[in-house]
Amino acid sequence: MPRAKQGCIFCAIVSGDAPAEILDEDEHTVTMMDINPATKGHALVIPRDHSEDLLSISEEDLCHTAVAAQRVVKRMEETLEPDGFNLLNAARVAAWQTVFHFHIHVIPRYEDDPLKLPWIPRGAEMDGIAGIAAAIRQG
Ligand code: AMP
Ligand code: ZN
Repeated sequence: MPRAKQGCIFCAIVSGDAPAEILDEDEHTVTMMDINPATKGHALVIPRDHSEDLLSISEEDLCHTAVAAQRVVKRMEETLEPDGFNLLNAARVAAWQTVFHFHIHVIPRYEDDPLKLPWIPRGAEMDGIAGIAAAIRQG
């Protein structure tokens, strides 16, 4: 039995108590179509066991979901024939997470799709970048 959280919509999908258009399943993961697709084929890969986000998911489930995402990408490559792919994970509200059961968005991309890069690339002082890198390295 997967570890489930009461009231979690994705746990309800894993248990079969809520409907979903399932694309792929294995022992550890389920992949479903997103009900608000960003592009044609937008899917979500989730672990069967409930983990809230990237900070709390186990390394094993993180690996399983990444491998499942690649499997789905390869299948979409053959079927939808998109021009590219984005994988996206939102961790916490500040990063746009709205469903608190870890998931990887698989977003097939098309030359003429309407998606835009969500940040404006701008240069920064290399000293500042090096200082932040040092702080992260030191932990
Ligand atoms: P995020 O905002 O990164 O947490 O992504 C949550 C995603 O889950 C959104 O893209 C929603 O459209 C999608 N979603 C929410 N409820 C369902 C559901 N019942 N079935 C499929 N996708 C869902
Ligand atoms: Zn859940």
